[in-house]
Amino acid sequence: MITDLHSHCERSFDCEIPFAVMCDSAVERGVKVFALTDHCDLTPVSDEAAVMDNIRLSLSDAQMQGGRLDGTLKVVKGIELGQPLHNLPIAEKIVCMEGVDFILCSIHEIIDKQDFYYLNYNNEDVDDLLTKYFEEVLETVRWNKFDSLAHLTYPIRYICGEYGIAVDLSKYSAVIDEILSLLAKNGKALEINSSGLGMKIKETLPPRAIIARFRQLGGEYITIGSDAHLPQNVGYRIDEVFALVRECGFDSVTYFENHKPVKVRI
Ligand SMILES: [Zn+2]
Ligand SMILES: [Zn+2]
Repeated sequence: MITDLHSHCERSFDCEIPFAVMCDSAVERGVKVFALTDHCDLTPVSDEAAVMDNIRLSLSDAQMQGGRLDGTLKVVKGIELGQPLHNLPIAEKIVCMEGVDFILCSIHEIIDKQDFYYLNYNNEDVDDLLTKYFEEVLETVRWNKFDSLAHLTYPIRYICGEYGIAVDLSKYSAVIDEILSLLAKNGKALEINSSGLGMKIKETLPPRAIIARFRQLGGEYITIGSDAHLPQNVGYRIDEVFALVRECGFDSVTYFENHKPVKVRI
């Protein structure tokens, strides 16, 4: 059973596709459980009313498609909550919202910097950025108010993939272990994001070694997501990721209903 727990629609700033079109693609591609996780990236100056309005529109899109497809596709009503610690008062309200199944938590930027997507790594201290990135991920995992941690190692997609700068992740193994152990202890999921397989980095986020390490450290829940912003990317190479997750010692993947994990055997 293919589960894709990470996708976007026109309610995200970087996507123009109506959710109905994404769902049609999910059905065509054999996806059985599909989450809409539109961006909700918080900054210290986020406009609370605008943030909440956009989430309500997105949740209503998900609700409507779940009804239209009438059991053909299970639609999970999710949010990709970016940088919750950058605006805790709003984040605390979002995580208490009614009608949300799934909070997928991301770090796309560290404080006083743009999204890692936009940085020019020829002018940056890469080690300092990564140290701050992993520290913020750890702080967010300590906050603990989410269901799954999205695309751990996100900056690597750009630093190694787009800029070709070599990074030895073993340098950060202590903090990565702390992140993975705490996720496992708290019963939270680790997302395996398949989008990187089609990019220059050519690997999942996080990569195999980190997935296997999560298992060793007691991790139980995995969510898999394509991070599709286009219909053709829904369910992108998810069968390969299922195989990878199995090789790393997991016998199930997870989706969420009202924040409760539901395991699907693989
Ligand atoms: Zn993201
Ligand atoms: Zn995303």
